Amino acid sequence: MSGTTLTPALPAAAEPAWLGVMGGGQLGRMFAHAAQSMGYRVAVLEPSGDCPAGQVAERLVEAGYEDAAGLDALAAQCVAVTTEFENVPAASLSRLAERVFVAPGAHGVSVAQDRIAEKAFFVSCAPKSGVLPAPHKTIASEADIDAIGDDLLPGILKTVRMGYDGKGQVRVQSRDDVRAAFASMGGVTCLLEKMLPLAYEVSVLTARGADGESVVYPIAENVHRDGILFTTTVPGPNVSEERAVKAQEAARAIVAELGYVGVLCIEFFVLQDGSLVVNEMAPRPHNSGHYTIDACVTSQFAQQVRAMARLPLGDVRQHSPAVMLNILGDVWFEGDGNVAREPAWDEVLALPGANLHLYGKTDPRRGRKMGHVTFVAPTLAQAQASFEAACAILGIEV
Ligand code: ATP
Ligand code: MG
Repeated sequence: MSGTTLTPALPAAAEPAWLGVMGGGQLGRMFAHAAQSMGYRVAVLEPSGDCPAGQVAERLVEAGYEDAAGLDALAAQCVAVTTEFENVPAASLSRLAERVFVAPGAHGVSVAQDRIAEKAFFVSCAPKSGVLPAPHKTIASEADIDAIGDDLLPGILKTVRMGYDGKGQVRVQSRDDVRAAFASMGGVTCLLEKMLPLAYEVSVLTARGADGESVVYPIAENVHRDGILFTTTVPGPNVSEERAVKAQEAARAIVAELGYVGVLCIEFFVLQDGSLVVNEMAPRPHNSGHYTIDACVTSQFAQQVRAMARLPLGDVRQHSPAVMLNILGDVWFEGDGNVAREPAWDEVLALPGANLHLYGKTDPRRGRKMGHVTFVAPTLAQAQASFEAACAILGIEV
């Protein structure tokens, strides 16, 4: 495909152009909305029939992520294929890439999937990006635990693969804690990271085209609760101009160094002494970028469409301050109990600047991402006021 990678895959009226997406979750659903509004048809590959993206795509290829026939059907139908979840098998992306343009490619995705490879990559780009990851050590055996230096404790033990939303992580104070946590994770290879004194967390959403051009969105400030993103606020109330520029420059260097095509989100910590530490990257649109749908000229999903179709990247300008509130299944229950209720969306939508996005999931469970609401307003204070009023309506503690 290399000779054709720069030819744009235009949406055409006579013979519809199809874009493919690996994965059927909410990110695939919002990607499909963006692709369809630009005139493309969307095919989703996902093993479970009733999925958020499958509800809106023109075609659902119901197949496992490694199913050769399913992958070949997707490749045959589409002019380009992307992914909406991080743990897509890299071998599947490679197989697709033999027949169709794939963005992001297997290399970028496989680095992001593996915390050891990801940390090593961040260290290797530090001369260009100007940022380092947290001090860390691979833990694959009891001997590795014996060799932990005092400077890495207290820390967080994270599984190397398949971690998300704080899953596969244990906070540890001592080597004995590490031993217990390592055993509790079944002895899979882990990474021990030094626990850093965070002042706040930010993410930088970036996109790079096949021609090497890149764009960087305004920096987003994120608050997590129980390991899950709670809110994203842009502009971030704590973020100084100097810090924002440093993070954006680091992101631009990282995406270029990775030779990446598509939307990439990079998470950073800002420490109490003001220094910037790179945490991890997601090779896809990201929850902290949902605000771009309502607050920026080009949403992260429309940007993914442009990148994979080799179209010019879109304007990342933010036209309104925004607060994004994740809606978890918890709000379908009264208080802490298990009495079910429907959230009062009519009251939420009466608030100024409220934009409701629900993902079509029919089974609300506590901790499950069901949707989000983005509040946009002429000033950040107004957006925050609507956000606080929504939390009161939904029974969410601020
Ligand atoms: P997700 O995929 O949802 O972003 P994850 O499960 O991959 O999350 P991380 O982003 O590595 O995990 O960590 C989750 C949260 O834990 C971070 O957002 C941060 O609040 C906290 N955390 C992680 N590593 C550290 C660290 N080294 N020092 C202090 N806090 C940390
Ligand atoms: Mg994270």
